[in-house]
Amino acid sequence: MQSVIAHYQEIALKGKNRPWFLRRLIHNLEAVFEDLDVRKVRAPMGRIEIELGAEASWAEIRARLQRVFGLANFARAGRADLDVEAIAAAILRDLPDEPVEAFRIMVRRPDKRFPIPSPVLEREIGARVQAARGWPVRLKHPPLVIWVEILPGEAFYYFGKEPGPGGMPSGTSGRVAVLLSGGIDSPVAAWRMMRRGCKAVFIHFHSYPFLSVTSQDKARELARLLTRYQLRSQLHLVPFGELQRRVTLSVPGPMRVVVYRRLMLRIAEAIAHRTRAHALVTGEVVGQVASQTLENMTVIAQATSLEILRPLVGMDKEEITDAAQRLGSYPISIVPDEDCCTLFTPRHPLTRARLDEVLAAEAALPIEEMVREALDRTAVERFAYPVVESTVASPPDVEAVTGI
Ligand code: ATP
Ligand code: MG
Repeated sequence: MQSVIAHYQEIALKGKNRPWFLRRLIHNLEAVFEDLDVRKVRAPMGRIEIELGAEASWAEIRARLQRVFGLANFARAGRADLDVEAIAAAILRDLPDEPVEAFRIMVRRPDKRFPIPSPVLEREIGARVQAARGWPVRLKHPPLVIWVEILPGEAFYYFGKEPGPGGMPSGTSGRVAVLLSGGIDSPVAAWRMMRRGCKAVFIHFHSYPFLSVTSQDKARELARLLTRYQLRSQLHLVPFGELQRRVTLSVPGPMRVVVYRRLMLRIAEAIAHRTRAHALVTGEVVGQVASQTLENMTVIAQATSLEILRPLVGMDKEEITDAAQRLGSYPISIVPDEDCCTLFTPRHPLTRARLDEVLAAEAALPIEEMVREALDRTAVERFAYPVVESTVASPPDVEAVTGI
């Protein structure tokens, strides 16, 4: 069985834009299999066929397909001539040896030029399988479904199908800048937006040398993990400790977290402009920690005119933790490190910030200069998948950072 048949769901609804979404999906599939023995990716009549070479490892192909956004489901498939006998013979050759409790055939016939209607084909192929194997047919929830797809000039068959990751093909929804801490929430937030077709640029604020380099290593690990879903990423590492030190000189302790967060958003906005990202993404959740009361979130958000997307805003910690475990980010996120927002911060920050008070406190700070200095000292690292390129650190000049 040297093919994969995959189906897409949401793209099917996109009307006039459909060919564009489909081209993007095919391009993404070609890129993710760049280093494997994959011969061809094509889109016959509303599905995708991936033709595998003899060297292709199904385990690896399968693992990668589970990360290609836009796929609703997929299965390893065999090809047969357009003829009932040929289809049944190929199925019988490839069926697993182990007996099954019951089965059914499901035929899809998008190419109506083939004269035999699907129910007739189902009965005829089913009868041959039953005669050869002695398995009973059951139409409701059989443990084995044998799928047959009748396409122009050829038929495909496969045994069951597995779910893809869903969503929209990477790169079809524009770019977003994700504030990626080393915590549990923000990688999940990034993944959720990436699943909607957004390309993510990652931004991490660290307080090295005031705190250890651990948070940067965690951000790198997370960026590497997430890159497997979008194939090219940039991670902007912003030194934040010196800014925090300056904030402590004039801003009262309880207000500092809000001021730090507003500074982060201003810096993130500048990076978003440079990388042509259209929105910011955070892992904020209402009520989760002191900085995430509605009052504080509102005052923090006033620091930028960019849209802030918070895909986790209404989720419970447990739901987010489950998602982090499925994504594989959880073990990275729980490595102990000191969050930069705990630096120079009292244990009881303000929970009800007021914009006028925060603006008054910020008036004593050279905000623009602080933002510019942080940007000047930001390092950009690049990640690629499946072929790993060496990560190069460079200052974020516009030419270098726009070409994801
Ligand atoms: P997370 O688990 O994502 O760190 P959290 O529950 O710890 O979230 P906060 O620390 O209040 O919540 O952070 C809220 C959001 O602000 C994070 O989800 C992230 O998007 C952003 N953020 C916080 N700290 C940083 C940082 N050091 N670098 C980049 N973004 C950050
Ligand atoms: Mg955090």
